[in-house]
Amino acid sequence: MISAEHLVKTYNLGGSIIRALDDVSFEIKDGTMTAITGASGSGKSTLMNVLGCLDQPDSGTYTLGGEDVSKLGKDRLAEIRNRRIGFIFQTFNLLPRMSALENVELPLLYAGRSEAQAAAEAALRTVGLGDRMYHEPNQLSGGQRQRVSIARAIVSNPDIVLADEPTGNLDSKTGVEIMALLKALHEQKRTIIIVTHDPDIAQHCSNELHMRDGQIVERRGT
Ligand code: ADP
Ligand code: MG
Repeated sequence: MISAEHLVKTYNLGGSIIRALDDVSFEIKDGTMTAITGASGSGKSTLMNVLGCLDQPDSGTYTLGGEDVSKLGKDRLAEIRNRRIGFIFQTFNLLPRMSALENVELPLLYAGRSEAQAAAEAALRTVGLGDRMYHEPNQLSGGQRQRVSIARAIVSNPDIVLADEPTGNLDSKTGVEIMALLKALHEQKRTIIIVTHDPDIAQHCSNELHMRDGQIVERRGT
């Protein structure tokens, strides 16, 4: 269970205060698929960074699996992030001049070499790229690159997958394929949270939190 209570996050930009999260509270049950929607600048990425333990709120509590993570130190936060959370980004964030396989192995550098390779190969097969393991990102289509980044997100078997505009750089047909893949991860009992400004993408999710000016102004399912 993910539980957020009264989250506030402000940015000070040249003396003017921006309330990127302005008293945000919600719960997300384990194994559900939730869209976080809203116009550009409404606070979606800020919320995703807090949910993903990449950033901390100024105030409020964020509870993950019963543990209040909003006040943890950087090291402990990184540990939770590495163990529990997989990330997918709009721009894929793959390293160039490294093969798909090497990119997917990266989160497992602490593991043994052969163990990491076996897990990365399995993750790439899961996303339908068993025949592209030695291709580098610039030798792959946008949809294939996003599949590599999904494989990287799931290679350490996290129970939560966070995707920030995962279809934003893809044509609509490829976007539908990526959504089908995220749904398959959801069916394996993972908690999936997708940030999107696209209502069609949000329709694939049973739950939706709609943001405006740092606040949740509409809820569906949750
Ligand atoms: P979204 O992802 O919905 O487009 P963001 O969470 O990126 O929105 O941004 C929410 C608000 O916070 C916006 O007004 C944005 O300009 C501001 N903001 C985001 N990150 C920073 C930052 N690092 N410094 C200053 N302002 C920021
Ligand atoms: Mg954003």
